[in-house]
Amino acid sequence: MREYRIKVVPVNIPTSTVHNFLPYLEKIFRAQVSVEEKIFPISLLIESFNEERKQIDAEKLLLKLIERYHTSLGNWIITLVEGDAYVKGLNFVFGIAKQGWGGIVFTYRLKPEIYGDYPRPSLYMSRIVKEVLHELGHALGLGHCLNHCVMRFSNNIIDVDNKPVIYCQRCRLEIRRIYPGLLEI
Ligand SMILES: [Zn+2]
Ligand SMILES: [Zn+2]
Repeated sequence: MREYRIKVVPVNIPTSTVHNFLPYLEKIFRAQVSVEEKIFPISLLIESFNEERKQIDAEKLLLKLIERYHTSLGNWIITLVEGDAYVKGLNFVFGIAKQGWGGIVFTYRLKPEIYGDYPRPSLYMSRIVKEVLHELGHALGLGHCLNHCVMRFSNNIIDVDNKPVIYCQRCRLEIRRIYPGLLEI
């Protein structure tokens, strides 16, 4: 069986946050999950920042990351950026992905505090896990899903909170078909 790998790259997010959600990934995927220890060059973030919008250009950053972090078949990268990002045509995005490579999750809008809530670490963590699974799903080749599924498209934070932290049966079948043995459950 092929050895699958998922590498998590924390850009400007505390590594403790990353270590908190690794067990979720290990529970769902039969893959070697590791954390990139090298310091991320913050210049890439600065170069992707749109001064007018005060947001990160998600597509620009994605291209820079793809250039920097190479993956091979069955290897994916998931990057976490504590920032706010957009793509053309949308006010903001929670994440972005590239099939076969991996994705980026932008955590700023996942924080309960920015919606007037008090900081709730477990809620924040479950939102991060959902968005990580969502972008990884795209990286694996899944599209958006209308089922009660982590691959549902999220327009806002309520949508994120309403979706489950799991792939639906249909999406699981699809992952099994493309990457046999990758799913733990
Ligand atoms: Zn999506
Ligand atoms: Zn689904």
